[in-house]
Amino acid sequence: MVLRKRAERRAAERAAEKLAEQRVKLFFASDGGSIDRPLVLESASLVEPRALAQPCPRCGGPLRLLSHDAVAKGASLLRAARTRCSLCASEWTSWFLVERRLPH
Ligand SMILES: [Zn+2]
Repeated sequence: MVLRKRAERRAAERAAEKLAEQRVKLFFASDGGSIDRPLVLESASLVEPRALAQPCPRCGGPLRLLSHDAVAKGASLLRAARTRCSLCASEWTSWFLVERRLPH
């Protein structure tokens, strides 16, 4: 009985780990997840709220901002928001490209 419960718990843990891996992969593959695929924003003031709006890809915990830097890439200036999860301490970087719309 005890052994069976332990096996069930291990299976649940493995399933949770697999799910977390998939969420992490999705984070890196989505817009803003890499320097080659920044999320386009209209204002630099949206960078931090956007970076903090999503939960930790690994555990779903709340993220805290570590730094917000401007990074040159070719002719464009990207924004990198580094965050750390308050629960599992994983660190993430969200990439943004600020494109101001020209007034008509
Ligand atoms: Zn976390």
